[in-house]
Amino acid sequence: MSCVTGLTCINCGVGVPAPDSAGVCPHCDDPFSVLDVQYDLNRVARTMTRVAITARPANHWRYAELLPIDGDDNAFRWPVGWTPLLSADRLAVWVGVQALRLKDDGRNPTGSFKDRASSVGVLHALQGGATRVACASTGNAASSLAGFAAMAGIPATIFVPQKAPDPKIAQLLIYGADVRRVRGSYAQAYDMCSTLCEREGWYNRNCAINPYLVEGKKTCGLELAEQFSDDRVPDWVAVSVGDGCTIAGIGRGLQQMRALGWISRMPRLLGVQAAHVRPVMEAFVSGALPDPSSCGATMADSIDVPVPRNWRKAVREVKASEGAFIGVTDEEIGAAMRATGSLAGVFAEPAAAAAVAGVRAAVESGVIDSGADVVAVITGNGLKDIRGAMQVAGSPRDVEPMA
Ligand SMILES: *Cc1c(COP(=O)(O)O)cnc(C)c1O
Repeated sequence: MSCVTGLTCINCGVGVPAPDSAGVCPHCDDPFSVLDVQYDLNRVARTMTRVAITARPANHWRYAELLPIDGDDNAFRWPVGWTPLLSADRLAVWVGVQALRLKDDGRNPTGSFKDRASSVGVLHALQGGATRVACASTGNAASSLAGFAAMAGIPATIFVPQKAPDPKIAQLLIYGADVRRVRGSYAQAYDMCSTLCEREGWYNRNCAINPYLVEGKKTCGLELAEQFSDDRVPDWVAVSVGDGCTIAGIGRGLQQMRALGWISRMPRLLGVQAAHVRPVMEAFVSGALPDPSSCGATMADSIDVPVPRNWRKAVREVKASEGAFIGVTDEEIGAAMRATGSLAGVFAEPAAAAAVAGVRAAVESGVIDSGADVVAVITGNGLKDIRGAMQVAGSPRDVEPMA
C-alpha cells in the first residue's frame, strides 16, 4: 500500500535509490545531509479517501499510503498515534489567544511522541531481518524503542551514559531491554552503540538521520489535518524543537495533507526552543548552526540538543509555513507545566510544556496575534520526569489527621 517512489538528499537534491538507505546522503560530504522520502501523491489520493480512512483502525497505520513501509497485521495492531486534540479554553486565556487546542501525544504507549518513529523503525528492522535493535539515549527515544521492541518480540540494547538518571533507566529495564551503562560520556555511549551496530548487524535507532524514523513522526501532521474538523485549520501549530525531527515531520505531514486537499491552507509553525539551547532558532536566522559551546542548560532534557542533526529539515518546514521560532526560559516552562496541568488537565513533561510556554511568549512579543487559533503539541507525558515536575509543583499542605 505504501506509495514511496524514492529518496532524495535535502542538501544536494540528488536521488538515492529506495528503499534501504537509512543513513545520510552518499554524495554529500556533510553529516547533516539527511534524506527525504518521496511519494506518488496521485497514487495516494486514489486509495486514501475520507471514506476509506474512516473505516481504518484508530492508530497511525491508517495512513499506510504515506508511510515508507508496508506493514504486517501484527504491527498494525500496535496502538500508536490517533491521540486526541483537546480544546483548552481556560489555558487559552492564560496563554492569551482566542482558541487553544492540545494534541496530547503523551498518551502514546510509552508516553511520548517518539513512539511514532520507534514503531516505524522497529517494523523496518523486523522486515530487514534484524535480530536486535539498539540506540544510545536516556530519553524518550530509548524508552520508546525498548517498549516497541518488547511489543514486537525483538531484543533491544540501550547504551546509556553513566550519569543517566535512575527513573529513566527504570522504564528501559521494565521493558526488558539489555541496558548497558557506559562508564563515560553520552558521546562515548553513542560511539559504542554505532560500532557494535555495525559489527553485529543490529538495527541502529540513533535517529535523527534515519529517514524512516522521521517519516513516522510525520503521522502527527497527518492526524492533525484529519482532526481539523470542518476545515478549522488553526493559525499556528506550536512544537518544541530538539534535533528538529518532530517539527519537520509535523510540517511535512501537514504539507502532504494540504497537497492532497484534506486542508485548505497551511497553519504557520512555531518552533519552540529553550532560551539557552536554541541552535535551530539561530540557524533559522543565520542559515548555519552556531558553535555548540555557545549553548547553556535547560531543565527540558528532551530538547537539550546542542548539535541538532535535523536542523535543515526543521528550518525548511518552518520557513515553508511562514512560521517563526521562539526561545523560552526554564521559569516559563515551569509556569506552563503548572498551567497546562491545572487549566487543561494535561500533565506535560518540561519539553512538552515548552510548546505552551512558547505560544504565551510569542503572544507577548507580538509574533502571534491575540485573536489567533492555536494548536500546541504535547510531546511527552509529565510522569516521564517526576523530578522536573517536583521542582516546579510546590509542596502539599501538611495537616494533622481529623480527630
Ligand atoms: C524528542 C522530543 C522533542 C523534540 O523532538 P526533536 O525531534 O528532537 O526536535 C520534544 N519533546 C519531547 C518530549 C521529546 O521527547
